[in-house]
This record gives sequence, C-alpha cells and structure tokens, in this order.
Amino acid sequence: MIPEKAFERLLGLDECWEVTAAEYETDPIECFMLIIRETEKLWAKLVCPDAKCACTQVVCHDHAPVRVWRHLDAFGKRTEILCEPPRARCTACQKVWRVPVPWEGEGKHFTRDFEAFALTLMREMPMTKAGDILGETDTRLWRLLFAHVDKAYAALDLSELVHVGVDEMSRRKGHHYLMVFADLVQKRVVFATEGKDHTTFQRFAAEILQHNGHPKAITAVAMDMSAAYQKGAREELGNARIVIDPFHVSALVSQAVDEVRRREAAAGAQTTLQKTIYLFRKNPENLSEREQERLDELDLKHLATGQAYLIRLELRDIYQHTIKPERARERLERWVKWVRRKCERFGEALAPLLKVAHTVEQHLEGILAHWSGWLSTAFLEGLNSVFSAVKRKARGYRSSEYMIAMLYFVAGKLAIPSLPSHSK
Ligand SMILES: [Zn+2]
Repeated sequence: MIPEKAFERLLGLDECWEVTAAEYETDPIECFMLIIRETEKLWAKLVCPDAKCACTQVVCHDHAPVRVWRHLDAFGKRTEILCEPPRARCTACQKVWRVPVPWEGEGKHFTRDFEAFALTLMREMPMTKAGDILGETDTRLWRLLFAHVDKAYAALDLSELVHVGVDEMSRRKGHHYLMVFADLVQKRVVFATEGKDHTTFQRFAAEILQHNGHPKAITAVAMDMSAAYQKGAREELGNARIVIDPFHVSALVSQAVDEVRRREAAAGAQTTLQKTIYLFRKNPENLSEREQERLDELDLKHLATGQAYLIRLELRDIYQHTIKPERARERLERWVKWVRRKCERFGEALAPLLKVAHTVEQHLEGILAHWSGWLSTAFLEGLNSVFSAVKRKARGYRSSEYMIAMLYFVAGKLAIPSLPSHSK
C-alpha cells in the first residue's frame, strides 16, 4: 500500500476525500504533512443547505485558501493536515458555502482526534503541563477547551434539576468570588457566575430557563447562612426549601474558634497559646501523640479558647451522632443555651461564639432541614477540593471566564470527548 492510501485509511477518510501527498519535512521543524483534497464523489453527495431550495445539483465553486490542522503525531513527529477547503455552489439558488471537512475539531487548528487526546491530557494535569507535552501554546489549548465547553454547555439539559447546592469560590484568598451552583442529585456543577450577592441567583434562574428547566421546579437548595443567599433563594427559587448544610455551619464555628484564640493570645495568653492554632482546628482523633500531649497541658477549662474548642466539638457531636430530627432540635436548642451561658461567664473573650449561637438560632429551621433527609450535601462538601483542582489546572489564568470554563470541564459532567481508556 502506498503511504498516501495508508494515511487515508488511518484518518478514516471516505471516498469523498483523498490524500494527494504525504511529505516529511525537516525545515523549519520535523513534520509530516498530509495534503488532502476532495474527490469528484463529494459533489454528488452534497445538497443545498437551504431546506426549501429545490436543489438538483451542487458543484464546486472554488477553494478557500489553504488551512492547516494539527493531527496526532505519527512516529513521534508533529503531523499536520493541509487542505484548501472547497466551497460548494447550489446550481438552483446559487448559494455558496464552505464544505465542512470531516477531520476538523471544534477549535480551528486541530483535528478531532488531536482534540480528544489534548482534552484527555487536560483532565489529568495543569494546562501549562499539557501544553509542554503537546508542544502547543496555552492560548491555543484554552481556545480549544472553550470551544468544547461552550458547545457542550449549550446542550446542557436542566429539565430534571430539583436539588441545588450553592457555594462560593474565591480565586485568590479573600478576593473575587465566583458563585457556584451545583445539581446535588446528578452531582455536577451547573452554573457559575461572578459576584456573591443575590443577583447571582437571578442569573442562575435565567440560565435554568435557557436549558429546558424552571427555577420554580427546584424543591430544595443547600447553602450557607449569608443574608444575600437567603434573599436570592427566596426571590428566585420560590418553591425551594432552604437547607443549611452542615459543612457551612461547622466552618462558621471553626472560624469563631480561631477568632477567640487570636483575641485571647493578643490579650496576654500569647505564651500559653503559642503554636496551638492547628490543635484547635483538628478533631481529637486526628491529633498526633505530641499534639495530644500539648493539648492536655493546656488548662482548657479556664481558657476561652478551650471553651470555644469544646463548643465546636459538641456541635460536631450533634452532627455525627444525632439521627432523629426531634432529637437534633432538642440538642441544638440546648447547645445554643449552653453557649450563651458560657459566653456570659467568659464575656468579651467568647463574643465570636455568641454571634454564632445567635446565627444558629436564627437559622434553626434551615439547619434542622438537614435531618429531614431531603437531599444529600456530600457533593457540596466535596466542592472545595474541586475548586483547588480547578485553580491548579488554570494556574496563571485566574480571570472569571477561564475559571468558569475549567470548572465546567472538571465538574460539569459535560459531553466532552476524551480518548477511550484502556486501563479498565
Ligand atoms: Zn439551493
């Protein structure tokens, strides 16, 4: 078999296309170049794109300037397809159009096979690393990714969206927020937008309508206790029951413990509390032997930080060991009272926890909704590690559009091609 024919077979071309030359260049770089042209058989197969046209014959109008598509490497060498894409003309209505070439991917510069390979690498590693391996610039790879994400996202179907989880992703510590909306049943990210106020819910509701769904069809939304979220959910997702997820309640208490520790250290207990920040953030079962000893040395009873720590552990116990909703209500109400009593005793030192107790009381129904078994918030809790992965992959590209595209790619479960896996 002559090389040209072999390449036609390898590229999976039908009788409408032929490889007219297969050349190996060494200047300026080593590269296989496959020149492809249409055959006469193509014209017989084409019909006018205008469905109303009584088209009888399509002919070749002319050829567009030569274009280059990068294909998978052959023998480890860069391989490119060159073709002057033919333009067709309908003899009935005289319409002229560019004939799509069968190997073209979603981006402008690559073949479909190359794109599937590149996307597979992008799933596994940061963009810059994928670029190194492929010998491609970040810019071209990002463009490829955007093309695939945009196409797949447009086809996203939200007609069965009922349980939503909301969280925010900061691009840099303490800066710029993306609001992220997830489908907790399908366990995927369905929408992300800049900002962290209630208008993000308006944009989400509008997006749902674009994808065959309805904001009023949402029956439950899991999120934290921020006023902006509550307002957004009430106004835009009117039928949704609000569920405050355990992760956010725990995070709020942990932050308060940190704050108490900081204040107490600043108020004179600096030596006592030196290097204890992680002791109080960890849970008892995760402490090393040395950390446990260090904790035992501290007089937790008489330290505001110690009290704050016990308050956190008690809340954790409620989440871990309470099964019935009535019992959860009882325990949470008792927890709030208990915190208040301690705060009276320790005064200003425990003020951050007094604030948390107040918040918990205010949102008690939402917090208790967790026990109703309405929805699983596991996916929501896992989002933080998704966010880290997204940031790692998009290193150097922190603007919203890049982060959102990468987020959809990594966690959107979109129909995006990848190579078949041989490992399973
Ligand atoms: Zn026509």
